[in-house]
Amino acid sequence: MTAQILDGNALAQELRESFQSRVAVLTAKGHRPGLVVILVGEDPASQVYVRNKVNACEKVGLYSEKITYDKDVNPQVVLDKIAELNADPKVHGILVQLPLPKHFDEEAVLEAISAEKDVDGFHAENVGALAQGNPRFIPCTPYGVMKMFEKGGVDLTGKEAVVVGRSNIVGKPMGLLLTNAGATVTICHSKTKDLLFHTSRADIVVAAVGRPRMITGDMIKPGAVVIDVGINRLPDGKLCGDVDFDSCKEVASLITPVPGGVGPMTITMLLANTIEAAERKAAQ
Ligand code: NDP
Repeated sequence: MTAQILDGNALAQELRESFQSRVAVLTAKGHRPGLVVILVGEDPASQVYVRNKVNACEKVGLYSEKITYDKDVNPQVVLDKIAELNADPKVHGILVQLPLPKHFDEEAVLEAISAEKDVDGFHAENVGALAQGNPRFIPCTPYGVMKMFEKGGVDLTGKEAVVVGRSNIVGKPMGLLLTNAGATVTICHSKTKDLLFHTSRADIVVAAVGRPRMITGDMIKPGAVVIDVGINRLPDGKLCGDVDFDSCKEVASLITPVPGGVGPMTITMLLANTIEAAERKAAQ
């Protein structure tokens, strides 16, 4: 069996095109969706992510702004800015690029963002709403994965789903979304005793670990759906996922590549969340 490949670039493009008319309608009504991204410090990867987010906004007609601070900034300055943005009606989404420098209390910063503008979905109130099955903002990466299941025609009801990774930004919300969608979910992590036992019985495997090619074809059940969230930079500069694509594609029925899989969907769902926030505001 050779797996069908789920093309994240194509799906992201399709969704972004569909956003343009929603943005046009909102803009005409005086509610042009607006996203502000806050970046603290000069981390090169974060700079690339922030640039990509701002560029993506501009392409679909969103208002966007990047606010940068020196890595030594007093956290209160950032908190004051967030308070100002919370009250600014042209801003529908506020995102603080993580990680923050060590002298910041990351949780306090995330909680300072109004839950109505928390387009990353990391505020405790939004995490709670997701856990209750009534989400307001779904964290962008797992939201993108759910769109990929939809596109791939994957029925999640009653399926055995194994998520490898339990981070707050990917693994845990992914587990909640799969649970809400009717799958039977197991979340594995670094303390899991027998990872192979879990992955090899799964109908769906989502890898969000940060270890190059750790999920290999012999760990996968024939016909499984394999989603690779991982983005790892190899010594030769190339990118690879947490899934060994070559061996898994011979066993799986559906698989996402890296690059060109989940990655492009993450920013797309950030745009979706910002547009949804503006639509909610416009409906008030
Ligand atoms: P974290 O480092 O926060 O979490 C990694 C998780 O993997 C942890 O729960 C950890 O367990 C678990 N883990 C580590 N080693 C093992 C192991 N040997 N066996 C099983 N589980 C293990 O990473 P993120 O969730 O932030 O990101 C995961 C990957 O996804 C990274 O490659 C990241 O670059 C990528 N990513 C991609 C995005 C995209 O847009 N495509 C967006 C966000 C992330 P424990 O909790 O016990 O330490």
